[in-house]
Amino acid sequence: MTKDFSQVWQLCLNVIKDNVSAQAFKTWFEPIKPIKLENNVLTIQVPSQFFYEWLEEHYVSLLKKIIRKELGPEGRLEYSIIMENSVVNDTPYTVKMPTSNRKATKNAPVNMPLDLGESPIKNPFIIPGLRKLNIESNLNPIYSFEIFIEGDCNRLARSAGYAVANKPGGTAFNPLLIYGGVGLGKTHLAHAIGIEIKNKFPEKTVLYVSSEKFTHQFIDAVKNSSVNDFAHFYQMMDVLIIDDVQFLSGKEKTQDIFFHIFNHLHQSNKQIVLTSDKPPVEMQGMEQRLLSRFKWGLSADLQVPGLETRIAILQKKMYADGIEMPHDVLEYLAYSITTNVRELEGALISLIAQSSLNKKAVNLELAKQMIDKFVKNTAREVSIDYIQKVVCDYFDLPIELLKSKTRKREIVQARQIAMFFAKKMTKSSLASIGAHCGGKDHATVLHACRTVNNLQETDKHFRKYLDDLEKKLSIA
Ligand code: ADP
Ligand code: MG
Repeated sequence: MTKDFSQVWQLCLNVIKDNVSAQAFKTWFEPIKPIKLENNVLTIQVPSQFFYEWLEEHYVSLLKKIIRKELGPEGRLEYSIIMENSVVNDTPYTVKMPTSNRKATKNAPVNMPLDLGESPIKNPFIIPGLRKLNIESNLNPIYSFEIFIEGDCNRLARSAGYAVANKPGGTAFNPLLIYGGVGLGKTHLAHAIGIEIKNKFPEKTVLYVSSEKFTHQFIDAVKNSSVNDFAHFYQMMDVLIIDDVQFLSGKEKTQDIFFHIFNHLHQSNKQIVLTSDKPPVEMQGMEQRLLSRFKWGLSADLQVPGLETRIAILQKKMYADGIEMPHDVLEYLAYSITTNVRELEGALISLIAQSSLNKKAVNLELAKQMIDKFVKNTAREVSIDYIQKVVCDYFDLPIELLKSKTRKREIVQARQIAMFFAKKMTKSSLASIGAHCGGKDHATVLHACRTVNNLQETDKHFRKYLDDLEKKLSIA
């Protein structure tokens, strides 16, 4: 009973067809060619290393069963992997059924010689038909390091990014994962790294892509049976920057392919830069093996910038755009908008637009109205910082003293007034007000509020101070 190898494979295919989706069959099984059957070993030819790994990972138990059914308990399957340029590998990876498992795969070299000149690889960024192989980096030149303001909020991420840009793939920061809330500069920093690398090493292939785009390209590749090309394309990069990886959560297939691409690049000392809106430990719906790889390099976070950094960012932005505005307006914006940099920039732009549309000068009043009406998510509430600033300006005291622990009389009084307004005009807790005002506890803040209330009723000079300050502080 000598079965012909193509007959055997046909029998296998019949079973496979019943067990996988039509799409999967088309993508993963139709391209396979049986080559020989010797000593109960069926050799099949697969188009690439990646293809082989995918089969091993997703269909190993199915294949195992089928081979046993068709060839008996001694039956084995061997893969012959076509290298690029259709060179058949004469030492095919042997996968000894039924002992085959993932471990065998791990030991196999994951090298894929890529010769761009001769094997056209579909670039998922390019519409089919328009063949063009020089790879666009998709970097936005405006997001450079030069205009990325350094502050305590971003020092680690920025300097790690800079180190990576100077030595892509050659630092311990691989992958470099930059994480932080919306509008804190992740995308900006990711581009800055890519731009810097392109400047220093023009010959390196750098690619920036959002996870969303990556996912869509992958879905298209599955539809068009070009998953191989897709993987190869990404594996060609010297520097791969993927923005917002949290988007891959729950997308198992996309994570799978990303895992392969990641491994290939990492093993070849290629640089990977990732951004995410949360740290790896909080990423839900992400495969453990990916998460553990994310932690191989450095995870650096971006925090909300402090006041000085916010002012510096606004100044830089204004300088870059050739805008001028009074310093008190700038400070007001920086004091009022504390959530993130994107909103800060949004406020600046709205303000400029308002002033030119209505032909009004940019002044504090306009800024107050604008903050009130146009900046979304910013409550009408003034910030403790702003209250402190207004109080200090009014009494002509340096703000550092108010925030210090000093017990000098006039400082104590100003500090109590600031606490009083903070309690009255913000939703901050007593404890947090205290922390802002010289590291006092909640009881001190409470005491301050009582003292101010008493003085307000008994001292008419004091009442005047409060009235003036209240006017300055109230917005609109
Ligand atoms: P994310 O990707 O974290 O949501 P972005 O990178 O898109 O945030 O940043 C939002 C805006 O804030 C961008 O216009 C960016 O240029 C600006 N920005 C953020 N951080 C800084 C910074 N440190 N210096 C200058 N501009 C910044
Ligand atoms: Mg972003």
